[in-house]
Amino acid sequence: MTVCVVASPTAAEVGLKVPAGGAPPMGSPTVPKDDAVMAAVRGAPTDLDRFLYLRRLQRDNPSLFYRVLMEHTEECLPFLYTPTVGEACQKYHRIGVPTYGLYLHASERGRFLDLLRAYPQQDIRVVVVTDGERILGLGDLGAGGMGISEGKSLLYTAAAGVPPHQILPVVLDVGTNNQALLDDPQYAGLRQRRVTGAEYDSLVEEFIRALKAWRPHVLLQFEDFANHTAFHLLERYRPQLACFNDDIQGTACICLAGVLAALRAAGKGIEQQRILFYGAGEAGTGIGELIAICLEHHHGMSREEGRRHCYFMDSKGLVCASRTDLQHHKRPFAHNVPPCRTLEEAIQALRPTVLIGVSTMAGAFSRSVLQAMAALNERPVIMPLSNPTSKSECTFQEAVEATGGRVLFASGSPFPPLQHGGRMLYPAQANNAYVFPAIGHAAVLTQCKQISDDVFLVAAETLAEMSSLPEIEQGFLFPRFAGIKTVSVKLMAAVADFMVRSQLGTVPADFDAVCRQAGVASSASNRARWEAYAAAHMFHPS
Ligand code: NAP
Ligand code: MN
Repeated sequence: MTVCVVASPTAAEVGLKVPAGGAPPMGSPTVPKDDAVMAAVRGAPTDLDRFLYLRRLQRDNPSLFYRVLMEHTEECLPFLYTPTVGEACQKYHRIGVPTYGLYLHASERGRFLDLLRAYPQQDIRVVVVTDGERILGLGDLGAGGMGISEGKSLLYTAAAGVPPHQILPVVLDVGTNNQALLDDPQYAGLRQRRVTGAEYDSLVEEFIRALKAWRPHVLLQFEDFANHTAFHLLERYRPQLACFNDDIQGTACICLAGVLAALRAAGKGIEQQRILFYGAGEAGTGIGELIAICLEHHHGMSREEGRRHCYFMDSKGLVCASRTDLQHHKRPFAHNVPPCRTLEEAIQALRPTVLIGVSTMAGAFSRSVLQAMAALNERPVIMPLSNPTSKSECTFQEAVEATGGRVLFASGSPFPPLQHGGRMLYPAQANNAYVFPAIGHAAVLTQCKQISDDVFLVAAETLAEMSSLPEIEQGFLFPRFAGIKTVSVKLMAAVADFMVRSQLGTVPADFDAVCRQAGVASSASNRARWEAYAAAHMFHPS
């Protein structure tokens, strides 16, 4: 097995301007070549062609690629990331994707540190790792998971301005149980079934040790690990280095932000809510735990009391104390309530105020489910988060119609806005990319040692305050994604300030100098100074 040698671009190649003269402007002038690129993107026959065109441009002309990515972020991301990246991962080994990430194959055990040291880029601050076992909703794609690590890595730059040469996408290739891949002569990963148990654990352990020895302050993002590894890897490694799992914690953060914003319009506090989750996997239980943490911090409850505001259904019905078949991550939410088989039964029994779909069961929020929520609540909060669109528990239109337009709504996938009762209503999209790149960049700037749950709470609360009440009433629970870089600067400031205050991170040596150069006085608030510092560290391609 060989290690991939195509490097991410150097700082010089992408024309990185290291901040010296204070906060640079949020964009650079468009030159005609950018228009030619966008014309080619728009004119390509399929989204997969758009993906390949952009990724080849990244290899062949990184400076032009990053300029286009930074200026046309909203238009390019659907091709570089979801939904197109799913298909790209499935076909990764056949379509000639110019890989720039690093494969660490199980067959190379004992050499992971050497392989990291041999990677052409050494100033790495952020690592995104997957083992490819549960890519999006597509299952085990083995080494094809590289597309996800690379896509998430691009988001760090596009959304939160982390310089591209500081980010490393990794696939920990432990084999695949996907028979079609094993049978495919072109498949580029290890041609064996997945390593499991103690052997799997020791491979991850070697990877983490190598990473810490190589770059002690690195931020590690776990991405698209399966349920049976994701929770325990996070618990084992979060005390050891700055790491988080985006499927669990990033999702929790954006969803809590959406709930908090919705409750501003509903005029109710989160401590008054009963939240019913349809689906009890990584996303659902991650959200439930962050809600419990929020209740613990701000409403004087114990963590257990907080969790009692959250109820879950899985494929076998309501998660409750009498069940003996519950996996570890569901047990904290197994409350003393009678079993329920269907969602409608559970709604009648529990009278929830918030309904969150994380089940991948398209249509599970039927008209009668939505009407039951509308009968119980003046402003029902309904969030069908399952992706892609074809898996969504309901559509925006269904939610608006069944609730007479009273719904406060966010979905995982995008839906079109619609007219209702003489006004336009807009669906909010709960995209993790609002939060994880900014949290990661803040961790980098403060050399954060550990990402505590409170970090996600701070980010969620900060984001929830960014939309005005009239905007929320129209449906914009989150600010427009078009303004993501401004959103990220504000989130980075709040999170970095929190990391330093809670002694998870430190004030950078050049903090005062950068603030001074940006014209922010030392008497200004910490938040204002961090905003100047974060803005000065947003990547700007030449
Ligand atoms: P997961 O870990 O596989 O969990 C799926 C859960 O759904 C499991 O608990 C499963 O039950 C349950 N389920 C399956 N069929 C069901 C049924 N018929 N009735 C009730 N529950 C059922 O997946 P995940 O990572 O949590 O992701 C779930 C969904 O959320 C995905 O579609 C994903 O795309 C989406 N998501 C959205 C966002 C976002 O919008 N920002 C972020 C993350 C994930 P068992 O436990 O019994 O198997
Ligand atoms: Mn994911």
